[in-house]
Amino acid sequence: MARYTGSVCRQCRREGVKLFLKGDRCFSEKCAVSKRHTPPGMHGQGRKKQSEYGIQLREKQKVRRAYGVLESQFRKYYDLASNMRGITGENMLSLLERRLDNVAYRLNFGDSRPMARQMVTHGHLLVNGKKVDIASYLVKAGDVISIREKSTDVDFFKTLKEQGAARTVPKWLELDAEKLSGKVVVLPSRDDIDLTIEEHLIVEYYSR
Ligand code: SF4
Repeated sequence: MARYTGSVCRQCRREGVKLFLKGDRCFSEKCAVSKRHTPPGMHGQGRKKQSEYGIQLREKQKVRRAYGVLESQFRKYYDLASNMRGITGENMLSLLERRLDNVAYRLNFGDSRPMARQMVTHGHLLVNGKKVDIASYLVKAGDVISIREKSTDVDFFKTLKEQGAARTVPKWLELDAEKLSGKVVVLPSRDDIDLTIEEHLIVEYYSR
């Protein structure tokens, strides 16, 4: 599947917020958003007030880029969420959080979502003891996510085991850092999502 191959920091600058796509660098003074507050491109500084449509579009792009999802797939999440019971915007965020690459990131198996995604697609992860290499796989309550035993010899995972979790694990997940294994205690709710998102704008964008 085609993927965005340009500068990831450019995406953060475009949205004007940190999307945390580069691990440690995002917390350092080298972060492009911290250094420059303008959108990329020669007309970046000259951009004027946004229209209602522009605001909705930017919110949608921000979330899509944060989770590393292509437009067609993002739209599918919206369609799925709108057919579920409850609030569409919240359902959609919950679906995005349940992606296996995001769960690996939340469990601290990767410094960023792109890194966690690579971990999944390279076959390092097991779900309930079975290899799953599909980043968009949706976890369920009770699922156990672990690192394949063969992969624990890789230096990165050895260090991870020694150092433990670098970030706090959200309350809907449980981490056993020693075993490099995590459990989905309950499905994520809106309160579990730390990125500042106005999901109603995304719903409005797709409802046009
Ligand atoms: Fe975004 Fe991280 Fe790059 Fe900063 S360093 S612009 S947060 S990807």
